[in-house]
Amino acid sequence: MFLKNDQLDQWDREYFFHPSTHLAQHARGESPNRIVTGGSGVYIEDRNGRRLLDAFAGLYCVNVGYGRTEIAEAIAAQAKELAYYHAYVGHGTEASITLAKMILERAPKNMSKVYFGLGGSDANETNIKLVWYYNNILGRPEKKKIISRWRGYHGSGLMTGSLTGLATFHNKFDLPLAPILHTEAPYYYRRPDSAMSEEDLTAYLAAELEALIEREGADTIAAFIGEPVLGTGGIVPPPAGYWDAIQKVLKKHDILLIADEVVTGFGRLGSMFGSDHYGIEPDIITIAKGLTSAYAPLSGSIVSKKVWEVLERGTDENGPIGHGWTYSAHPIGAAAGVANLKLVDSLGLVKNAAETGRHFLNAMKEAVGGHRHVGEVRGEGLLCALEFVEDKESRRAFDAGKKIGPQIAAALLEEGVIGRAMPQGDILGFAPPLCLTREEADRIVDATVKAVQKVFGA
Ligand code: PLP
Repeated sequence: MFLKNDQLDQWDREYFFHPSTHLAQHARGESPNRIVTGGSGVYIEDRNGRRLLDAFAGLYCVNVGYGRTEIAEAIAAQAKELAYYHAYVGHGTEASITLAKMILERAPKNMSKVYFGLGGSDANETNIKLVWYYNNILGRPEKKKIISRWRGYHGSGLMTGSLTGLATFHNKFDLPLAPILHTEAPYYYRRPDSAMSEEDLTAYLAAELEALIEREGADTIAAFIGEPVLGTGGIVPPPAGYWDAIQKVLKKHDILLIADEVVTGFGRLGSMFGSDHYGIEPDIITIAKGLTSAYAPLSGSIVSKKVWEVLERGTDENGPIGHGWTYSAHPIGAAAGVANLKLVDSLGLVKNAAETGRHFLNAMKEAVGGHRHVGEVRGEGLLCALEFVEDKESRRAFDAGKKIGPQIAAALLEEGVIGRAMPQGDILGFAPPLCLTREEADRIVDATVKAVQKVFGA
C-alpha cells in the first residue's frame, strides 16, 4: 500500500462512479465506503485491517473462497503464454476448448455447445438474440416476446434489465422494454391467499402463466426465463411441483425455457446445476459467477441440441452468425474457469454445499426462526434468507422507510459478518462461499442472532 487511506478515500469520492450506489451521498462522503485489500477462505480484509466473514461470497460468486493460488497461478501462466486471442471464425485456445468440454460434461443432458461471454447480463442478452434467431430460422417471425417473473433478476442491460422484475432496476430508465412480459413470482410466503398450500400456489402460478400466454397469443411468445431459485428478488425456493407445472405449460405452447443459473450453476444448491436439482430440462442455460468463482470475468450460454440444430441450419442458409464480443472466450477467463472447476471437484464443494447448507439453514431456523419479527427463514443448499415482518401472524411488512433490512445488515457487519440486504423487502440474504465449514456457519448464525437482538431488542 503506497497511498494513505484518506488520500484514497478522497479519490474514491471524487473520481469513481460506483454501480448500485447512492451517488450523491457517496460523493458527499455521507455514506461509508470500504476499500478491500485481501481475502482468504471465507474472509476478506479491508484497508483498516478489519477482517470480515463474507457470507455473501462477494455477489454470490466467490464459490471456492478467496486466495486460491491454484487459480491465480493458472491465470498468470495463461497471461504469460498468451494473454489474448479472439474466438471469431473458428479460433480458440486450449483453455477455452477444454473449458467448454468440462462444462458440457457437468451440464444437464441434451446440452450441446457453450457460447462464452463476460458476465451474466451479456449472456442473457446473447440468449435473447439466439431465441429470436431460432424463431426467424423456423419461419416464425412473430414469436419473439419473452416472459420472466416479477422479482426475477437477469441483469442490468437494456433487455436484461427489462427481464429483471425489480422496480429499482426499471425506475427512471424507461424499462421494461416492450417485448418483455412478467408473470407472478413463485413466492410462497407472499402467496395471494394464506389458505393456499404450496401445491395450490403452484397450480395458481401455472394458470396465471397460461392465461398470460393465451392473452398475448402463444404464437407471439418465444421463451420463458427463470432462476431455479429466485436470487436477488429475495432468495426464494419455488413451491412444490413448480418447475414441473411451468414446463408443462411451456411445452404445450412451444415456448423455449431459459434457466438462468448464474447463481445456481456449479454447486450453490448442493447439485451441480439447479436444473438437476428441480428436474428442469432447459433449452438454454445461463452461467457466470461460479464458472470462475469470479477470479476472472466469464459467462456462458449453454445451448441445447434442439436449439443448436436450428442455429446450424441458420448459418447454412445465411452465412456466419452475426454475434460476437471481442472478449468472448477470453483465454484468461477460460484458464481461471478450468482451474476453478477442477477445485470445485477436488474440494468436494457441491457435496459440501448440500451438507453444510443443511446444517446452516437448520441452525438459522433454530436460532432466530421463533423471533417475533422473523417471518420466515428459507433456503436451499448454501442460499439462505431471513424475511423480517412487523406482524408475524398477518405477515404484515414493516414500513419501507424504516429500512429494517439494511439496519440488520449493518448490525451484522458490526459483528464482523457480511450479509446482504436484498433490494426489495426486508430480507437478509446469505450466499457464502461453498467451502464454508460448520464452524463458520455457526459464526454467521451467532452474529445474526446478535444483529437481530440489536435492531429489535431481545
Ligand atoms: N442472472 C442472475 C440470476 C444474476 O444473479 C445476475 C447477477 O447477479 C445476472 C444474471 C447478471 O450477471 P452480471 O452482473 O454478471 O451481469
